[in-house]
Parts: sequence; structure tokens; C-alpha cells
Amino acid sequence: MLISRLAHPVRNLGFGTRATIWTQGCSLRCAGCMAVDTWPFRADRDWPAEDLAAWLLTLPQGVDGVTISGGEPTEQPELPGLLAMLRPLATARGETWDVLVFTGRDPAQVWSDWPWLFELADAVVAGPFVAAEAGDLFLMGSANQELILVSELGRERYSRPWEERPALDFAIEDGRLFLTGIPRPGELEALTHDLRQAGVWLKGRSWRGV
Ligand code: SF4
Repeated sequence: MLISRLAHPVRNLGFGTRATIWTQGCSLRCAGCMAVDTWPFRADRDWPAEDLAAWLLTLPQGVDGVTISGGEPTEQPELPGLLAMLRPLATARGETWDVLVFTGRDPAQVWSDWPWLFELADAVVAGPFVAAEAGDLFLMGSANQELILVSELGRERYSRPWEERPALDFAIEDGRLFLTGIPRPGELEALTHDLRQAGVWLKGRSWRGV
């Protein structure tokens, strides 16, 4: 499975404290995507699902769920196999994980072409990012997207919006600055500006604007 990044703890992409897996590779190419670096299908980013499971088992206790984002998760043929591993892993750790999947596919297309997502995930955020509809929405980058509550656990954890969208988180890994979360309109541009004001020039960035 092609992987862009793994992170834990992540507290702004779903309920509670989470492990997050970003897949590598996306052919959807939404204008204004904040993760253009995840578009290429890079063979050097291949992880066996068993290694991802092993990583999850190394995490400290207190994991509430796993978020799968991208890239485009539905373009990873191994995704159903990985998702099927998650409930047994959570049980082995004595925890209750919810599984939240972000996909850029149209919601109707998800129902028809990836029905297994509705057996293996607890909640799905579906729909391409549309910059003209971007806003400050619960879990969604733009208003055209849809939060689909699949399981009882998903309904319990995601049917009531948080009071406000959580702030972005930052991490530096291998000399790269990683942002986690869903930016509000203009937030990435403001960040670039603020960094410049502080004397920090980004050599490259994962968003291009619209
Ligand atoms: S927003 Fe998501 S689906 Fe759209 S191009 Fe970016 S990674 Fe792909």
C-alpha cells in the first residue's frame, strides 16, 4: 500500500487521539488541494499492510481511532485488507477504535463502487475538495463534501459537530514541516506570509492555490 505519512498522536482529524495514515497517490487532482505532494503514485512508498498493523501495535495506549486520508485512499487496492485488520487490532489492545476515511470520490460513487467502505469504516467523508465552497465546516474542507455516518460508533462520535474546527498542528520531520488538520480558507497563505515575516522561506510546499 502506498503511504505518504504516518502520524500519532493526531487530535484534529477525528474523534479523540488518533493514528493517521495518509496514502500516497491521487488521480483526482482537485484545484486547491493542500496535499499535491501526495499525488504521485510512488513505488518507493510501498508498505505491506502487515507493517502498518505492526506500527499501530507499537503506539502507546489511548488510541481512540484511525483516520485514513490521502492522497486518495480508494486508489489503494490493499485498503480493504488494511481496514479489515483494524477491529481485531483494537480488540487486541483492549481499545475501541473508530475508523474514519476521507475520500475525494463523489458520495454516490462511493456507495456504488466502494460498498465495502460501509462495512469496514465507521464514518466516511466523501467528495472532492471544491475551493469555491471551502469554509469552516465540521470535518469537511468544502461544503459539497458529505459526512456519512456508517456505524453506531460513527454516529455516536461524529453526529454532533465539535464547537469549532480544531486548529492545524505542525510537526518537523526530516527537515520538512508537516501540517495536520483541515485549513480554513486563506489559512495556508497566511501561514506562508507569517513564516516569511519571521525569516523562514519554504523551499517547496504541498499546495499551489487555485
Ligand atoms: S483534495 Fe484529496 S482527493 Fe482532491 S486532489 Fe487532493 S488528495 Fe486528491
